[in-house]
Amino acid sequence: MKKIGLLGGTFDPPHLGHLLVAEEVYHALDLDEVWFIPSNDPPHKDSTDTNTEDRLEMTRMAVQTNHHFDVNTIEIERSGTSFTFDTVSSLVNTYQDTEFYFIMGGDMVEYLPKWHRIEELLELVSFVGVQRKGFELECEYPIIKVEIPMFEVSSTLIRNRVQGGGSTRYLLPERVETYIKERGLYGKR
Ligand code: ATP
Repeated sequence: MKKIGLLGGTFDPPHLGHLLVAEEVYHALDLDEVWFIPSNDPPHKDSTDTNTEDRLEMTRMAVQTNHHFDVNTIEIERSGTSFTFDTVSSLVNTYQDTEFYFIMGGDMVEYLPKWHRIEELLELVSFVGVQRKGFELECEYPIIKVEIPMFEVSSTLIRNRVQGGGSTRYLLPERVETYIKERGLYGKR
């Protein structure tokens, strides 16, 4: 059986926190690959102003230099609301020789009980939780906890920095930083 980690996110933009989480879990659980899955329309967030192509392109750039990372476009192709249950069911059907591990930060773990078809989802995938500042990893469901060096960067912080003309150096992959500047994303700089 192959072991594949899934990191779903808005990636608006992808940052070094995402890459660190994926790399740490990859090693801790001895995974074969980690797939980054940019959401189309996440059920738990307000819709983003950033267009899907830009989020996808930045996510591709972010993972490019790591040969065990990949981007999976299943949620973008499906369009509509991106329920993890739909994504995981489809992947489990397509890749029958694979065990999937759904990776998430503590901010997501808190909402797990409210997830669409959570009980069925638990039968299909193992959940992996990593700490995030200000959130508990405690949950009524079984989750694999992986200790990682905490690096509290978020896409929100980056959008705010760009908007306010602040530095984003060492928070983002350089290619993503350049792309944001070139495309004038997240306001002026
Ligand atoms: P935003 O600030 O826009 O809410 P975000 O930085 O949380 O975005 P997402 O794309 O929503 O980024 O995150 C995708 C996944 O990565 C989520 O499970 C989230 O918890 C996790 N994650 C993001 N940043 C970190 C971080 N710095 N440390 C640990 N987990 C993180």
